[in-house]
Amino acid sequence: MATLGFSIVFTLLTVMVRTGSAWRDQRQAMTAELQQLEQVFQNTLSKAIWEMDRDALEAHLSSAAKVGSVGRVSLQIGQAQRAGDRLERQRDGWAPSRLVPSLEQDLAYEPYAGARETVGRIRLDGDERVLWSRLGDEVGGIVLTQVIQTLLLVTLVMWLFNRSVTVHVQHIARHLAQLSPENLARRLELLRKSRRHDELTLLAAGVNQLQGSLSEYLARQREDERELAAHRDRLAELVQQRTEALQAANAKLEALSRCDPLTGLPNRRHFDEAKEAEFRRAQRTGQPLSLLLCDIDFFKRYNDTYGHAGGDACLGRVAQALQACFGRAGELAARIGGEEFAVLLPGMDAEAAREAAERLRQAVAALAIDHSGSEVAPHVTLSIGVAAYRAESMDRFDILFHHADQALYGAKRQGRDRVACPA
Ligand code: GH3
Ligand code: MG
Ligand code: MG
Repeated sequence: MATLGFSIVFTLLTVMVRTGSAWRDQRQAMTAELQQLEQVFQNTLSKAIWEMDRDALEAHLSSAAKVGSVGRVSLQIGQAQRAGDRLERQRDGWAPSRLVPSLEQDLAYEPYAGARETVGRIRLDGDERVLWSRLGDEVGGIVLTQVIQTLLLVTLVMWLFNRSVTVHVQHIARHLAQLSPENLARRLELLRKSRRHDELTLLAAGVNQLQGSLSEYLARQREDERELAAHRDRLAELVQQRTEALQAANAKLEALSRCDPLTGLPNRRHFDEAKEAEFRRAQRTGQPLSLLLCDIDFFKRYNDTYGHAGGDACLGRVAQALQACFGRAGELAARIGGEEFAVLLPGMDAEAAREAAERLRQAVAALAIDHSGSEVAPHVTLSIGVAAYRAESMDRFDILFHHADQALYGAKRQGRDRVACPA
């Protein structure tokens, strides 16, 4: 578009300059023609005036007026100061104009040698229409040659530009469009044989350098990403290890928090959790559920006699007996107080529970732990209260517990070292 605009402006300017020059040439040519005409008619006209040959004069004037570039011929006969005769011939439609050349010249006659006399004055005016017509013909040629010239020039320039720039720019653009992280190593090579050093060479070098830097950067980034991934994996592994260790520690802590450290039996907290679950199950299924509450007899005196450490050891042995008696699935023997133990017996009715309690009592007695302070036996004995769940009268575990506690109280009151059930 810009090239087209420039070509039009260039053509117009050149046509204007050449037209101006042609105009000057045409005027000069017309001036020369008028001078030539004046030379031709000088002698014949001045002779006709001298001889006063009116017909010849008219004939000469008419033929002068017919010459191509002449618009008007006027002839002053006699001295200019004296108002003489005046003859004039002009073409049809001629109009005076300051644009066209004119010529005015005295006419002199020499009747004999050395007697030269001015006999009149001739004026020749050019015809403007002739000037325009000749200029018109020439301008047509000028425009035609100029347009051809410009077209050739523009074609040549565009061809050269295309050959030396456009082709390469398109090649560079294609190369850049095909670039991806995978083919950054593919260098940009200009499609020309000569090893020139110009702006295109600089551009290609810049593109190659940029590709190189990008390639390096990407390689570094990939390496960093690999390292990061490895770190992440190591970290995840570490977190996993730590989590497992923490979970194990938590499980241990949880187990510890539900275990009595002295006897190794489940503690009061564990018992409280289990009792609710078992009570609900019994309510739900109608299965029997029994509870034993056990208390070592005269244990204060045992402590007093054998010391607190001895007391602790005694508690440990009694706990072992409990564990040995109630190791089946679902049975739970727990230490719920100083020398008090509770046993949950799911699926066991009152009679079976009483029998189990009796076995326990005998097992503890069989331990034959010396107890000189006891009033019921020379060894450590156990009093046990037994209660069984009854759906019709027990809607809370506490009621069952209360019944077992009452039974234990009864066992103590009846003389200790025995199993008692609620009346
Ligand atoms: P009773 O036959 O009526 O049950 O009499 P008792 O002496 O056993 O009952 P009492 O409740 O008066 O005493 C319980 C004693 O148990 C008091 C306390 O010193 C002792 N005791 C509680 N916990 C521990 C313990 O962890 N270790 C030791 N060594 N003694 C304990
Ligand atoms: Mg007690
Ligand atoms: Mg006691």
